[in-house]
Amino acid sequence: MKKKLTYQELEAQVVKLESKSENLQRQLDLANQITSESLRSKRLLQTLVDTIPSPLFYKNTDGVYQQCNDAFAQTILGIDKDKIINRSLFDLSEYIPRELAEIFYAKDLLLLNNPGQQVYDTSVKCADGSIRIFTFYKASVLDEQQILGVVGVMLDVTELENKKRELLENNRRLERCSLTDPLTGLYNRRKFNAVFPDSLRVAKRHHRLLNFAIIDIDNFKKFNDNYGHVAGDNALVIISNLLQNRLLRADDYIFRLGGEEFALLFYADDEIAASQFVNDIRLAVQGLGIQHKENNGYSCVTISLGMVTVKDTDKDKDMLALYEMADKLLYKVKNSGKNQILAKLV
Ligand code: GH3
Ligand code: MG
Ligand code: MG
Repeated sequence: MKKKLTYQELEAQVVKLESKSENLQRQLDLANQITSESLRSKRLLQTLVDTIPSPLFYKNTDGVYQQCNDAFAQTILGIDKDKIINRSLFDLSEYIPRELAEIFYAKDLLLLNNPGQQVYDTSVKCADGSIRIFTFYKASVLDEQQILGVVGVMLDVTELENKKRELLENNRRLERCSLTDPLTGLYNRRKFNAVFPDSLRVAKRHHRLLNFAIIDIDNFKKFNDNYGHVAGDNALVIISNLLQNRLLRADDYIFRLGGEEFALLFYADDEIAASQFVNDIRLAVQGLGIQHKENNGYSCVTISLGMVTVKDTDKDKDMLALYEMADKLLYKVKNSGKNQILAKLV
């Protein structure tokens, strides 16, 4: 039978129980405090990630979305977060095309199998229908030794990429401008200075016969005097087009060196074929029949050519020396009636 407690003993037990209850209350308060702090932190974190304008997401090891921010939900998929959370890429096939889902999943697998970081660019169709370029920054999430999933941030680099492309195109255009002559559209002397040494190197390496001709329009000053500068410009354009159209191979070049002077660089099988080629050009210019009454008795515009066919590139023949040789030949032609070619094998 249980012993009846004395008043003092009962009082002591009440005190003990009270202290136990206080203890419990304190523990409960602490638990509540921790819960509300954790809730506050969670809310703070969610507000923070929702304020970030770049889309963010977190997927578990099964590729199921655990978290994402407003930017991801609204700009990328155009649906509420609760339709994304607890769904995988493949569950969202209505919003993420299967081909893309497979690419993303394969990338995720790499991070799950080899924890680390990953950066790549890809085009994404956004909720508003626009296709934008994003840089994905992704990383594996680790807890001690265990992989929990993958986090990702998407940075919209569309404008940057567009600007880069624009800049590249502008640079290309500027380079084209700096190497071409505005009147005729032919390459200019600057381009000639760059191409000629290269052509000499190619000729040497591949044992090809390089031909360099200087072309000069005959009595062009008189043409301008008689028909005006505009007519002179027109004649320059017509002759330039003819010269350009005569080029046969991708590595044949025509340049406007300046004024009414042009340069031709082309390969030929032998020096006879080369002479034939430029003589045909001379005849074709004459055949244009551009009226020129004061041109050494010819009634139309004609050209004179001095050409060197570079046979032995092993000898010390640089661009300047070859230029002087061709120029001398042209000078001779000019002093012996014009509308001719003079070629030399060097
Ligand atoms: P030659 O047969 O000895 O070459 O005589 P030429 O009159 O052609 O040579 P010259 O060097 O005395 O004169 C070249 C002329 O070419 C001077 C200039 O009026 C003309 N010319 C040069 N550049 C241009 C141009 O861009 N447009 C026009 N219309 N004429 C030009
Ligand atoms: Mg001339
Ligand atoms: Mg001249």
